[in-house]
Amino acid sequence: MSGKTHRAAQVKQANGKLEIVNKQTPQAGRNEILIKVVASGICASDHFTMTGMMNSPYPLSPGHEVVGRIETLGQDCSKDWKVGQRVGLGWNGGYCHQCTFCRKGDFVHCQASKITGVTIDGGHQEFVLASESAVVDLPEDLKMTDSELAPLLCAGNTVYEALLDAGLKAGDTIIVQGLGGLGHIALQVGRKAGAVVVCISGSPEKKDLALKLGAHYYFSSKDNLEEEMKKIGPAKIALATAPSGDAPKQLIPLLDKYGKLIIVGTPNDGKELGVNTMALISQYIGVQGAKCGHAADNEHFIKWCNLAEIKSMSKEWPLEKAHEALTDTFTGKPQFRNVIVMGHK
Ligand SMILES: [Zn+2]
Ligand SMILES: [Zn+2]
Repeated sequence: MSGKTHRAAQVKQANGKLEIVNKQTPQAGRNEILIKVVASGICASDHFTMTGMMNSPYPLSPGHEVVGRIETLGQDCSKDWKVGQRVGLGWNGGYCHQCTFCRKGDFVHCQASKITGVTIDGGHQEFVLASESAVVDLPEDLKMTDSELAPLLCAGNTVYEALLDAGLKAGDTIIVQGLGGLGHIALQVGRKAGAVVVCISGSPEKKDLALKLGAHYYFSSKDNLEEEMKKIGPAKIALATAPSGDAPKQLIPLLDKYGKLIIVGTPNDGKELGVNTMALISQYIGVQGAKCGHAADNEHFIKWCNLAEIKSMSKEWPLEKAHEALTDTFTGKPQFRNVIVMGHK
């Protein structure tokens, strides 16, 4: 420890509250980087840390959508990093380099991977320690603000990787179900990647916003979706972003033969996905999950977002109101991402 302290929002135990505390500022170990946090996005997945669903070690600061600057570098870090450099930190908090997945270069699925803000301290604090392999090199000249940028490191990269993994090509029809933290970025990504974009959401009043963000078509989940999709043509990919366990099954009849249903929304309604398996068999439809990429994936993605003018619609909150901001996210009210900004003195 450095003997210095900093302000942090941390949870002491499962199902506790985020409290503001003074925490010892750690020193960077050999392959670690200490980041001075500027902005830290609140994600629905902070729920894992707050509830103990992923065996978080307490006390812990959540936060895995971090934008900041390098404060100090460990002695064995690559010479490419510089103190003061703008960097980010996402869900992937570093990997082991030794497990079967790492040896195949599949770092996202490292069997011993650290998860920022879930299994190790995250960004809802003024300083966060990161493994060098997890640090995202961010250009200085991005057109978006820190709070517009932070959610791209998890929410944005998750929907981007999901669409690419599903084989998205220009001209394909995709469905984005849900217009919240993930969905509002997925509409932009799909549109800028050349897809025909269909948005399905629960509330008819979101239509104008969906079209502005990039949707070509908008339907309420109560519409006759099978009839509407007959006019457009079946979708190659359906991306389920709503936090519901069973809502994605509505998408299966809307998919083309060999279509893919990709689930990225973390369910919070206790429901499970009951599907008509005959439809999967007869149409060769695949159902899979997807998650955020690693640091290098994020570097590639953020540069493209900057050129394509993709950004998060974010609301800024001071660190003191971290718990209020978190509660706002969990109740589904924000339009669309809540981001803590540190306001260093
Ligand atoms: Zn996240
Ligand atoms: Zn590994």
